[in-house]
Amino acid sequence: MSEAVRQPVLAANWKMFKGPETTRAFLDRFMRLYPAHSDRSVVFFPAAISLSAFLAARSGRDDLEVGIQDVHTEVEGAYTGAVSAAMAAEAKLGWGLAGHSERRRDFGDEDATVGAKLRRLLEAGLRPILCVGETLEERRAGRLEEVLSRQMESVLDGLASSGCGTWHDKVLAYEPVWAIGTGETATPRDAAEAHGLIREVLSRRATDEPAATATILYGGSVKPDNIEALLAAEGVDGVLVGGASLDPDSFAQICLAGSDR
Ligand code: PEP
Repeated sequence: MSEAVRQPVLAANWKMFKGPETTRAFLDRFMRLYPAHSDRSVVFFPAAISLSAFLAARSGRDDLEVGIQDVHTEVEGAYTGAVSAAMAAEAKLGWGLAGHSERRRDFGDEDATVGAKLRRLLEAGLRPILCVGETLEERRAGRLEEVLSRQMESVLDGLASSGCGTWHDKVLAYEPVWAIGTGETATPRDAAEAHGLIREVLSRRATDEPAATATILYGGSVKPDNIEALLAAEGVDGVLVGGASLDPDSFAQICLAGSDR
């Protein structure tokens, strides 16, 4: 890790996998493989329908933190199927994702929507993870910096104009779209470059906190066999894991990276 000491965050995005029963079975095994470690944060984003099963099954293991995969831009209302940040806070969750590329691609979440969701998470007292990342076409066209800046500036502008307060302890995830669920992983060098660009954008905008204090995760086909190299890359403070987080053995190995067990 670079600059200030930032506690690594190992996060599992379960997407639309695992109902309540499979969630319990996962935890039963994972908790035997992964004992609590005070030098890292482990965060799970189960499907909304499995959140209460997760909270019940982790009993006594509050080190396994929990978040919501997506929230609505409103606090409450007639929005069938949706969940709000306020409801997530009431359910005692600590984290929320905003801007995951699958939400942007499949549900039409544009930058302004992502910003509104992130504001709701902050208002509700949850810790957002802002996901940013470029498509393959954008990367090939040399637009990496432009895309990352646009995705971040839009959210930061929205926060500034809403007067909703400061986003302390920023957590972002660099997730190149071409590496999500594809088996393609950014090299540690690609990740370091993008994380550096993200930190530059934050530095330009830093009115409140130095960019060095932000935690920046890498996401995109992270597995037990590439975790050590990715965590060793400059500026990589942790990972957001999809596919490999669904298996308790492989996610436990990822969470144990760099520890003496
Ligand atoms: C993700 O969905 O955030 C992700 C990184 O998925 P995967 O690890 O499967 O590429």
